Parts: sequence; structure tokens; C-alpha cells
Amino acid sequence: MSVSITRRRFASLLATSAVSLACGLDPRQAQAPKPASSPTPLPSIEPATGDASVGSGFDAELHQREAAYAQLAVSTVAGSQLGPFIQKLANWPLAGRVSSPFGPRWGGFHNGVDVAAPLYTPVRAAARGQVVVAGKPFLAYGDTASIVIIAHGNSFATLYALLNDERPVVAKVGEIVEAGQVIAFNGSTGWSTGPHVHFTTVLNARAVDPTQFLP
Ligand SMILES: [Zn+2]
Repeated sequence: MSVSITRRRFASLLATSAVSLACGLDPRQAQAPKPASSPTPLPSIEPATGDASVGSGFDAELHQREAAYAQLAVSTVAGSQLGPFIQKLANWPLAGRVSSPFGPRWGGFHNGVDVAAPLYTPVRAAARGQVVVAGKPFLAYGDTASIVIIAHGNSFATLYALLNDERPVVAKVGEIVEAGQVIAFNGSTGWSTGPHVHFTTVLNARAVDPTQFLP
């Protein structure tokens, strides 16, 4: 499945949303990279179940984007036709320090685990699966984040976000990757607080704490 198809699907989902963006005037917003060719901000979306974010400014923007990434994983994995969910992940996506756990954060909700590591640290597939998203799926909405999503079954996916683009994502859409295979490199693209991988697992259409599946 190509990113363009999933983007169209997502765009139709966005069009149905009535949630407005709580966009404050936090000066950190000015540091967020935006492509010159795409002045349109990321449209607001209905948060995925369990991913509701509240607040304003940078924090709310970041939570909103992370909810959008998880929603993209939900839509792409549902059509993967890969069969049942695998029960365990083989390895962490990269060696590093957990800088932000899954759960409530800054008055909102952090729907993944942040693993901080030096720039360019290899990011590895956490289990065997099929790459369903690779690249910058929200660039048209002004979000420069590089993302990889791997489907491991019809109802289960891993998501790796804010990846490097100076040393770009190496995983290709449609490719079968093995556990431990390098798919990208650690970066800080999009709305990011520093070099880390935002890693999450999507199970049965919602983002869940990935640590329960990790060794
Ligand atoms: Zn994160």
C-alpha cells in the first residue's frame, strides 16, 4: 500500500473532524521546521481512542501530531492482510534512554515511548513485518516528521517517528523487514524536543504502551 493512498484516506478522515486546534503563541513553535512550499498547518483531527490530548502551544501540537501518526498506523495496518497479531516484539528499536514514558504528559497524553540516543543511531525493526509507511506522510500539512510504520498483523503495528532525514529512512513501503533490521536513523524531524525515537505500538485500532511487548 502506498503512502499516497493512506494519505488520501487520512485526508478524508481529517475532513470529517470538527475539533479545532488549540494553538497558542508558545515561542517554541517558531523553532518548529516548516517546509516553505506548504504553509498550510496540519489539520485538526479527532484523537484516536485513548489518545485525547488537551492543553495548548507546543505540547498540544506535539500530542496532536503523535495522535495523527497513530491514526495513520491504524488505517494502514487494518488493510495489511497479514494475519493474526504476533504476541511479542523481538527487540527495542534502538539502544538508548527512555526520556519520556507512555502515559499522561504535560496535561495531555503521550501515546508512545521516547527513546533518546545520539543522532544517527540506527533504528531497527522491533519484529518481522511489512513496511506500510516510510517517509513524510504529513508534509503536505506542514509536518516535516519522518515516520516508519510496520504492520505485524491485521491488528498490530509498530510506529517509529521523528526519524532522521539527513540520513534518510532506508525502509521501503511494501518491503518485508526482519527483526533487528535497520530501517532508519535517529533524528529530530517535525515537532520534536531533541534527538529521539517516538516509538509506539498500535493494537486493535489504538495506541498502547509498547513496553508490554518488548523484551
Ligand atoms: Zn514521543
